[in-house]
Amino acid sequence: MNDREQEIKYNIEQVQSRIREACLRSHRDPAEVTLIAVSKTKPVEDILYAAQAGMEYFGENKVQELTMKMDTISQPLHWNMIGHLQKNKVKYIVGRAELIHSVDSVDLAKKIQDEAAKKNVRANILIEVNVSGEESKFGISPEALLDTIKEIALFPNVCIRGLMTIAPFTQNPEDNRQYFKKLRNLAVDIKSKNIDNVSMSVLSMGMTGDYEVAVEEGATMVRVGTGIFGERNYVS
Ligand SMILES: *Cc1c(COP(=O)(O)O)cnc(C)c1O
Repeated sequence: MNDREQEIKYNIEQVQSRIREACLRSHRDPAEVTLIAVSKTKPVEDILYAAQAGMEYFGENKVQELTMKMDTISQPLHWNMIGHLQKNKVKYIVGRAELIHSVDSVDLAKKIQDEAAKKNVRANILIEVNVSGEESKFGISPEALLDTIKEIALFPNVCIRGLMTIAPFTQNPEDNRQYFKKLRNLAVDIKSKNIDNVSMSVLSMGMTGDYEVAVEEGATMVRVGTGIFGERNYVS
């Protein structure tokens, strides 16, 4: 095993053990929490090392990078689209990404519906919610969520699996507890409406800085990049 492989394996073990501890503290079953390794900007090699260390779920935030990596890696992995999705790129990922976390409008869902119908598949999606109300963030406002979900639920080839949020960047993860609680409460509320074609089984929340708090508040998917692969390789 080379140094990089060892580093990634070690990081994954650390994150997984912290998730287990957060589950213990909150009386949850660790099997309910899926760790998604966010591999954006990282080379294919890093993904293979992570897979070797047992990771099965990967997340990317750009369509082109996601499809390039899916095309390059032949072993079966669970690919998640976690970044903002433009309508003109929908065709490249429907039928390929297992779950799209970032659906933030009825128009985008309609585009996914059309593409999924064309390919005769069902697309699994999460609705991105802007729980913190930060203006810079994508996502549906909590107030508009129920109506948006009711509209999207009518699309037969689109399956709403739950909610996703990106909490504010902060030094103190406790600051974000309120937003994770809020997302969970929204999911509970929507679930109680028993809308056809809508399940609220997935809560995608928590990143490197705050995933333990997110797990304590009910996350079923945490998206961890830096905590597994280190600082990102952005080229200017
Ligand atoms: C980059 C990214 C992450 C991972 O961020 P880290 O802080 O590196 O863990 C999670 N979710 C989304 C939507 C991202 O774009």
